[in-house]
Amino acid sequence: MDILFQTIQCNNLGTGQIGITPLTLIKSGTIFYSFKHLTPSINTPFSFQITKDKYLRDPKIISKTNHSCDPNIIVNTANKTCIAIKDILPGEMLTYFYPSTEWDEMNRPFACLCGSKNCIKVVNGAKTISSVTLKKYFLNDFILDLLG
Ligand SMILES: [Zn+2]
Repeated sequence: MDILFQTIQCNNLGTGQIGITPLTLIKSGTIFYSFKHLTPSINTPFSFQITKDKYLRDPKIISKTNHSCDPNIIVNTANKTCIAIKDILPGEMLTYFYPSTEWDEMNRPFACLCGSKNCIKVVNGAKTISSVTLKKYFLNDFILDLLG
């Protein structure tokens, strides 16, 4: 299915960064995007990790998707798809849990302002976060493998 997206300013995060929102409702459970077409990238502030040593960059959707500790999508690196885990209305930002795709220390760790009750406070690669904390969230298989 083809959903159109719009880039928006995330004023509620107070950081002036951009985000992305759908132009139509995405129902919870919908696989709304496949990123099988992406070519490998180096590790940059705009890349995301898909295995222990492979990175992708997706200027269209994923690189514009912000972090939340109470996210509305999952970026599944095993089958290279994005799945809505809540209904997402037009105007709502897409968000995913960055440590679900990031193992290495991030180029730019940052303070999380998501406000959810399970907020991890500082967003960084999964290797820097306790496994007790991480196991409250969806994690990709390669992150679970690396956690041991
Ligand atoms: Zn948070």
